Amino acid sequence: MAKSKKWVYLFEEVAEVEKYAGSWDGVRGLLGGKGSGLADMTRAGVPVPPGFTITTEACNEFRKTGKFPLDMWDQVLAALKVVEQQAGKKFGDPSNPLLVSCRSGAKFSMPGMMNTILNIGLNDEVAEGMINLTGNPRFVYDSYRRLVEMFGTTVFNFDDELFEHPLDEYKAGKGYKLDIEMTAEDWKALVAAFKVAFKKQAGFDFPQDVFKQLELATKAVFESWMGKRAIDYRKATGISDDLGTAVNIVTMVFGNMGDDSGTGVAFTRNPSTGDKKMMGEYLLNAQGEDVVAGIRNTDQIENLNKTMPAVYHQFMDITGKLEKHYKDMQDVEFTIERGKLWMLQTRNGKRTAKSTIKIAVDMSNEGLIGREEAVLRVTPEVVDALLHPQFDENAKKTAVVYAKGVNASPGAAVGQAYFDADTAEKMAKENKQQTIMVRPFTKPDDVHGMIASQGVLTSEGGATSHAAVVARQFGIPCIVGASMIKIDLENRIMEVDGKVVREGEWISVDGTTGQVYVGKLPTSAPSLEEQTDLLTLLGWADDIAARKDIRILPDGRKAPGLQVWANADYPKDARRARSYGAKGIGLCRTEHMFFETERLPIVQKMILAETSAERTGYLNQLLPTQRKDFDGLFEAMDGYPVIIRLIDPPLHEFMPDEEKLFEEVVTMRVKGQTEGLKEKEDLLASIKALHESNPMMGLRGVRLSIAMPEIVEMQVRAIFEAAADCTKRGIVVRPEVMIPLTGTVKELEWIQPRLIRIAKTVTEEKKVDLPYKFGTMIEIPRAAVTAGEIATLAEFFSFGTNDLTQMTYGYSRDDAERNFLVTYVAAGILPRNPFQTLDREGVGKLMQMAINDGRKTRPDLEVGICGEHGGDPDSIEWCHMIGNNYVSCSPFRVPIARLAAAHAALKYSGQKIAEDK
Ligand code: ADP
Ligand code: MG
Ligand code: MG
Repeated sequence: MAKSKKWVYLFEEVAEVEKYAGSWDGVRGLLGGKGSGLADMTRAGVPVPPGFTITTEACNEFRKTGKFPLDMWDQVLAALKVVEQQAGKKFGDPSNPLLVSCRSGAKFSMPGMMNTILNIGLNDEVAEGMINLTGNPRFVYDSYRRLVEMFGTTVFNFDDELFEHPLDEYKAGKGYKLDIEMTAEDWKALVAAFKVAFKKQAGFDFPQDVFKQLELATKAVFESWMGKRAIDYRKATGISDDLGTAVNIVTMVFGNMGDDSGTGVAFTRNPSTGDKKMMGEYLLNAQGEDVVAGIRNTDQIENLNKTMPAVYHQFMDITGKLEKHYKDMQDVEFTIERGKLWMLQTRNGKRTAKSTIKIAVDMSNEGLIGREEAVLRVTPEVVDALLHPQFDENAKKTAVVYAKGVNASPGAAVGQAYFDADTAEKMAKENKQQTIMVRPFTKPDDVHGMIASQGVLTSEGGATSHAAVVARQFGIPCIVGASMIKIDLENRIMEVDGKVVREGEWISVDGTTGQVYVGKLPTSAPSLEEQTDLLTLLGWADDIAARKDIRILPDGRKAPGLQVWANADYPKDARRARSYGAKGIGLCRTEHMFFETERLPIVQKMILAETSAERTGYLNQLLPTQRKDFDGLFEAMDGYPVIIRLIDPPLHEFMPDEEKLFEEVVTMRVKGQTEGLKEKEDLLASIKALHESNPMMGLRGVRLSIAMPEIVEMQVRAIFEAAADCTKRGIVVRPEVMIPLTGTVKELEWIQPRLIRIAKTVTEEKKVDLPYKFGTMIEIPRAAVTAGEIATLAEFFSFGTNDLTQMTYGYSRDDAERNFLVTYVAAGILPRNPFQTLDREGVGKLMQMAINDGRKTRPDLEVGICGEHGGDPDSIEWCHMIGNNYVSCSPFRVPIARLAAAHAALKYSGQKIAEDK
C-alpha cells in the first residue's frame, strides 16, 4: 500500500510543487503540461477559473492497483471545498451550483488523445436550479445534454452514434441544419432522449449523484492513459508509457450562455508558416469542443476586435506575455462568459517543419532566445521534412484543380483515396500502397489511419481542427475544409460538381497550397536556396561545430567539431553538395564512370586482356575520359578536399550477365547461327573463369589492384593529370587517393609506393606543386584492429561502415534486411537496424579503437566516415564523440548532418574525446 502523500495541488500551490519537484521540468512531470500551465498562469495573475490538479503519481498508483491511492479522494474533496469558496458556488447545490470539468493532461501534450469531460455536477435538480439562476434554459439543457453525451462516450466508451443519431434525427424532424437553431425546448427533449439512450446502453440510469460523476470521470481520465488511442500516439511520438496523466478539475466557465459568450483556440504565431501573427478561431455561443471538432464554421480571431474589442485587447496582451514568458509560440484555449475572458490552457504549440525553423530563427533575432537554443530547437527530422518533395511547378500549371481547401499542413502527397482510417491503414500496411485518407473530419481514433497515409484531406473544419493539428505534428501534408467536396461514406465516393472519385483512385494533395488534383502529379525536391531561414540556421549550426575548443583531444589539444562532407561521383552531385554546404567530397566512387555506355565495351576488353601490355592499351583509351571526370569534380570543389576511391567492385560486375549470355549461346547453337557465335562462346568462358562463389569477399578492392595494378595506376595518373591541369587554371585542388578494402598494412606496402611514384612523376612532368594524401578505407575488422600499423602508411582513414557493419556482424546486408532483421528488431535482439544507425557497442567500438591506435602512430591522421551512417544523426553524434574530423553523406542529407553535427557539439561541448578503454 502506497504511503499517504500529497496527490492534489490547487492551482495557486505551484510554488510548493516547484519545491517538491525540484525544477520546472519536474513540475511538468508531476502536474502535466496542462496543469502546470494553468498553475503558472494563475501565479502570473492571468484569469484562470479556480481549480486543482491530481498528480501523475496518483495516476501511476491507480494504474498499478486499479484503485485511487490512499487519501487521494479526501484530498480531492478538500480541494473542491477551497474551489467552491473561490468560485462562490457549491458543487451539487441547486441553489448556486458549481460545475467543473475533469481534464486529462500529460507531461507532453497529446492533443485529443485522452479524455476530458465537461459540465460535471449537472443533474435534474441542479439543472432546474440553474435555470432559475440564469433564466437561460437553452444554455442549461445544452450543457446537460453535452454532459450525458460525454459521459456516455468517454467514461463508458459508448459509440458516438448512440447520441449523434437521435440528434440528427431530431434536427431532421424539425428541418434544422445547425445546432444553433435548436431551442431550449429542443435541447430539453434531447436531454430526455440522451438519458434514455444512456440507460438502454448502460443498463442503469445516468448518475444523478454529482460526486459519483466526479469519481467516475476521474477514473476514466486515468484509464484513458492506457487507451489504444493514447498508446498508439505515444508509440508514434516516442513518449514513455510510464509518465502517466494528471487530472485537472477546473471550474466550468460557459461560452454557451448567449452571444456575449464564446470559446476559441489560438496560436500566437502562424503554426503553418511561422509568421509572427496570431492565428485563431472562435465561436460565439458555444462550448470548448465545438471549435476543435470543426463541426461549425468558425470566425477568425481578428473579428473579435470588432465584436468585443476590450476582450480582444486583453487577450492579445495576455498571449503576448505568455509567449515572452515561455519563449515559444503558444497554443491557447479561452472562453468568454458573458463578456469576461478566461484562459483555459496554454502550451508550446505544435507546428510544421517550416514554422519550426522560422520561429526559432525569428525568436533568436528578436532576442527571446540565443542562437544555440535556436539550433537546438530544430531537430534533424524537421530539416528532413522541409526538404521533402513538392509538386513540380510545371506540372501544376497544366493540372486541373479538383477542389480547394485550407492548406493545413504543407508538403506534397500522392496516394490512393480511402474513406476511413482502418482501410487507409490496412492498404498502407498490408498492401504497401500509398494512401490518402479522406474524411468529412477526423477524430482522435482516426490518428492511426492518418499516420499510415501519405496525406489527409477533409471536407470540414479549419486550420485548428483535429486533422490539421495532428497532421502538422506528424509532418503529413493535409488539406482541411475543402467544403465543395461531397463525401459519400456509404458508397465510398467523393464528388465535386458531378465529378466522382471512387475509393482507391489516385489523388494528389498539395498541403502547401490547399489544392487537390485527381491522378498522380510529379514531385521534385525543393531548392535549398529559397529556404532563407534554414540557411541562416544552418550557418549558425556550422559556426557552433567549427568552434575551435569544442573537443579536447586525448593529448590535451583543443579541436573543433565535425565538418560535413558529401559522397558524390559526378560534378553535378558535387555542385549540389557544395550548395548544400558540404566542405569536401568524402567519397567519389570511380567505378560508376566505367559503366557508362561508351566506356563499358572498352572496360570489358580491358578486363579480358591477356597481357599487361594489351590491358594498358585499353586503359590508355579510358584515361582521357577518366581525367575529364576528375577535372569536373575538382573544379566544382575548388578549395576543398576531394577523396577519390580507387576501383572497388569485383570485375564480374562489369561483364554481361552469365545466365543471359548462356541462353543466347544455346539459342544460337539450336538455330544453327554461326555468325558471332565464337566470340560469344569465348566471352562466356571468360566470364565463367571470373566466377567467384562469394564475390563480395573475393577479388575486389585493394586485392584486385594488386592482381591488376594497371587499372589503379591509370586512375592515379588521371587524378593527378586532372589535378595538375586544374591547378594551372588557378583552381585550388586537394586530391586524396583512397585505397579500398585494406585488411593488412602489407597490402598498402605493396601498392601505395607505386601509386605515389605516379603522383610524383605527373606533378613533376607538369611542373606543379599540390598538396595530396594517400589513405585507406577502414571497412574490414582486421584493418580496425591493426589501425596503428596501417596508419604508418595511410595518411587518412575513412570508415566504410556499410561493409564494416556487414563484416563485424557477419551479416550480408541484403539477406539480413530481407529476412531476419525485422524479426530481430521486433524481438529486441537488436535495438534497431544497424545498417541505418551505427552499432556503437560493436562497430562503433572498432572505430574508436582504430582512431586511437591510428592517431598514436600519426597524431594528425584525418578521420572520416563515408558509409550511409554519415547522414544519420545518432551515428553522427558517435562520430563526434570518438573524434572523427568529418562525416560524409549523400548531398541531400548534408543539411541534416550539419545540424546533427552542431547538436552533438553542443551536447558534448568542451568534453574530451571518448577513448576506448
Ligand atoms: P484537450 O486536451 O483534448 O484539448 P481539454 O481538457 O483542453 O482537452 O478540454 C477540451 C475542451 O473543453 C477545450 O476546448 C477546453 O477549452 C474546454 N474546457 C475544458 N475545461 C473547461 C472549463 N472548465 N470551462 C470551459 N471550457 C472548458
Ligand atoms: Mg485543450
Ligand atoms: Mg566497401
